[in-house]
Amino acid sequence: MTRPRARTRAGARVTILGGGVAGLSAAHELAERGYEVTVYERNERFGGKARSFPGPADSDGHPLPAEHGFRFFPGFYRHVTDTMARTPVSSEGSDGSRSETGAGAETRTRAKTVADHLVSTEQMLQAVTDGDSRIMTTDRPRTLAEWRDRLGSLFAGPHVPPDESAFFVDRLLTLLTSCEARWDEEYERTPWWEFVNAGAMSEGYQKFLAYGVTQSLVAMRPEVSSTRTIGRIYLQMIRGLFDDRVHADRLLDGPTNDVWIDPWIDYLRELGVTLHANATVTGLECEGGHVTGVTLVHERDGRTNEKRVESDYYVLAVPVDVARRLVTPTLEAAAPALADLDRIETAWMNGLQFYLVEDVPTVRGHGVYYDSPWALTSISQRQFWSAFDRYDGGGDVEGILSVIVSEWDEPGIVYGKPARECTEAELVTEVWEQLKRHLNREKTVLTDDLLVDTFVDPALTYDGEAETLTNDEPLLINTVGTRQYRPPADTAVPNLVLAGDYVRTETDLASMEAANEAARRAVNAILDREGDGDRCELWSFDQPRLFEPARRHDELNWRLGLPHPGAASPVLWKGYRRLSDGPRAGLAALTRGFSGRK
Ligand SMILES: Cc1cc2nc3c(=O)[nH]c(=O)nc-3n(C[C@H](O)[C@H](O)[C@H](O)COP(=O)(O)OP(=O)(O)OC[C@H]3O[C@@H](n4cnc5c(N)ncnc54)[C@H](O)[C@@H]3O)c2cc1C
Repeated sequence: MTRPRARTRAGARVTILGGGVAGLSAAHELAERGYEVTVYERNERFGGKARSFPGPADSDGHPLPAEHGFRFFPGFYRHVTDTMARTPVSSEGSDGSRSETGAGAETRTRAKTVADHLVSTEQMLQAVTDGDSRIMTTDRPRTLAEWRDRLGSLFAGPHVPPDESAFFVDRLLTLLTSCEARWDEEYERTPWWEFVNAGAMSEGYQKFLAYGVTQSLVAMRPEVSSTRTIGRIYLQMIRGLFDDRVHADRLLDGPTNDVWIDPWIDYLRELGVTLHANATVTGLECEGGHVTGVTLVHERDGRTNEKRVESDYYVLAVPVDVARRLVTPTLEAAAPALADLDRIETAWMNGLQFYLVEDVPTVRGHGVYYDSPWALTSISQRQFWSAFDRYDGGGDVEGILSVIVSEWDEPGIVYGKPARECTEAELVTEVWEQLKRHLNREKTVLTDDLLVDTFVDPALTYDGEAETLTNDEPLLINTVGTRQYRPPADTAVPNLVLAGDYVRTETDLASMEAANEAARRAVNAILDREGDGDRCELWSFDQPRLFEPARRHDELNWRLGLPHPGAASPVLWKGYRRLSDGPRAGLAALTRGFSGRK
């Protein structure tokens, strides 16, 4: 699990600015290769947007756990989960190890890692206020009936007319058979809403298919987000629902910092990384085309110190909204890829927790509230947190409902105001009522007397005088045509690299996976400059091989300036479509298509 230390230029020092997933991932890769790494993080806790923190005190005065927003790890993640599998959990088990049954029924022992804290969900709630809510299973369908049920709950059901379902599936097939150039050029510039022709469709289609799970789980608005981003992630996410080699949806079995970030910090310290919390970067100095130093404000032991540090390399791992403030005209002139950071957009996505006197599991997985104007999603934590009792000394909290608000501009149902304009109390009431309206249908699940306490993400602060809510941690959104403005990890400044979810990556989604991939790319840029061949591993999305011939066909069409074969050669296309009737029917139709026979 732990990589052998590689040789490197003696004394090569790397300063990492920002201790979120990107900054910590870069520190991990560099430290394992023997670099001298220092991390400066503005917050008291490491982990950035992925962190959890102490919430309100229970009746014994112990802080209850709170998440910035609950975490999910779809099966297609490779980068961040690889790092987790390389992070030992030293404090667990008497010897820090656990038994595992290997091939041939022989039992061996291996060290426990953070990845062992990932657990699969089994269900997902698709809740509505009008009509029937549905619970979809998230493990792989095995029988024909389960396959039918899965396809039905994903693409059809009572809310979507059959011809519209068929059209949507056809759109997905078009994506599966599109060449990379079409993804990069055409789909990057096409809003998802337009690609799936949502404007002309029923309300059910718009809600369940055009918005669907992707929007709710990653805060992307289909009207403005690119088909390239939503389409790729959508295909990867639904793959997890059919392919038993990947999990559809996993989450952590405890608060994020307890089971992931804190053991990670311990491991980084063991590797020799120096980590400073409460250290805010205030300036990046640039001269002669190089970064010459960084200025910081460091709060420690109640004192505030201003300091300046110098290093051989700098990894800028702050979020895009901070990065754009740190880029000076001199730095921008030296690294032109940084010029367009202000064209990258962010949106609000923040969490709040409801602490309950009783556990209300609702479903063994995530809940998506399709009719909530604030695009709510939730998870009931207790069922997944194996050591739940450890977090409630007083015993008066038996359940935690963790909720994320992804839409901040639509009026709510109680005060008629958008979330952005609500006070904290209004925000909490509004979210609670939107949940109740979805969950209290056939029977009453949520009642006001269940509530012990609530906690709103501290990134949200309310300025009473100005009557405005500010959000210190907005999240990147991949809007149409903005990929070109996302800089690569490797900049033209020889000693500066970038890590963060906004950096151009294969993952191309504001996520922990993208943050980790960007960090690996940043580290690779440093390794290249050092002439160190021990590069970090990178993965591409898996594409079903079945569609390879069609993708090649589309590549030819693209080069000839023709549309996708679906539009250009309907006969051939019919073959791919008929694959849904079974491989034999599909192949027969394809053969006819290739041979030009009708
Ligand atoms: C509510 C919510 C739920 C989410 N859920 C998921 C999920 O389930 N799955 C998933 O994959 N992704 C999820 N994401 C997205 C994911 O959390 C982020 O994309 C990812 O964590 C970004 O990591 P990062 O390191 O690039 O940036 P950040 O997490 O923003 O880290 C940057 C760090 O830099 C620090 N910093 C900022 N300014 C300075 C400064 N001046 N000096 C020093 N340090 C500074 C910050 O404090 C922070 O720690 C979610 C995001 C939100 C907001």
